Amino acid sequence: MKKLPSLPVQIFELVLTQILKMKISIITLAVSVLFSLYSTAQEPIPATINPINETFQVDTLANDGEELEVDSLKLTNDETLYKSIWNSTQIKYPINTLPNKNDTITISLLNSGDSPFVMPVKGQILSKFGPRHRRMHTGTDIRLNSGDTVRCAFDGRVRLAKVFRGYGNLVLVRHNNGLETIYAHLKAIKVKVNDTVKAGDLIGLGGRTGRATCNHLHFETRLFGEPFDSNKYIDYETFALRSDKVIYKNKQFVTDLKDLRDKPAPENKLLLASGRSGASKHVIRKGDNLWVIAKKYNTTVKKLCAVNKITASKTLKVGSVLRIN
Ligand SMILES: [Zn+2]
Repeated sequence: MKKLPSLPVQIFELVLTQILKMKISIITLAVSVLFSLYSTAQEPIPATINPINETFQVDTLANDGEELEVDSLKLTNDETLYKSIWNSTQIKYPINTLPNKNDTITISLLNSGDSPFVMPVKGQILSKFGPRHRRMHTGTDIRLNSGDTVRCAFDGRVRLAKVFRGYGNLVLVRHNNGLETIYAHLKAIKVKVNDTVKAGDLIGLGGRTGRATCNHLHFETRLFGEPFDSNKYIDYETFALRSDKVIYKNKQFVTDLKDLRDKPAPENKLLLASGRSGASKHVIRKGDNLWVIAKKYNTTVKKLCAVNKITASKTLKVGSVLRIN
């Protein structure tokens, strides 16, 4: 016959069960508090800065803190790059749409099966992409006449077609290749949200709606909502592609892998492996100085000056090449 536990043992078991129940509810509470803290920690996407000296201004468009409405997002099936996010109200994406820091994304601009690139408007470039009056001009301004045809650059689907802040009448197309392009200040919009469009199709008519002081097209290229300089892949002298791809890594946009920062070129790796001191050349970037470069390549300012026949006080021009050894 089974013996019942003694009274003290029964009390002990009862207390133990209550403590366990409390622990579980404390853990549940902690997890929900942590989760809500995480959800509110989403920050807006910062602007990408490119060192271009440009003061001419025909519009006042800038990266001026557009707010995200995450709950307006709608899902589709086939959007792998954009993690199925498709919305027709906002240009930008939530920050968690961005790829991981170490992911390198290559956008092929010559997809077989897609129509070839078409320049939206062939006209004089009035203002380039880059900092302007201490703010960021996020596109390229191209002269046109009121009512001129504005064409789609690549095949894709219309994501935005509406009046949008200083952009005036705006069309945004997400292309099959993953890029997004924006056509702004239009006099009239000739497409609807969700329309499938081909390169060369009529998007709208040129104009000066929104914050514009003359008729022009404000043309932007974005990837994951981040604007970058379309001059990197479009030759604005010939209006043809100058590159067959755009490479994205950690908020950098390049057309050649070797232009990614903090990535030693293959020959540098060999030199480093053999115990020698790094690269033979360094392209000056914004913010560089001799001390920083010397440290990076494990050499001294004195040696850099000697090799390049310069003095330590020399101003380094962005884009110029410095010999390392
Ligand atoms: Zn503009």
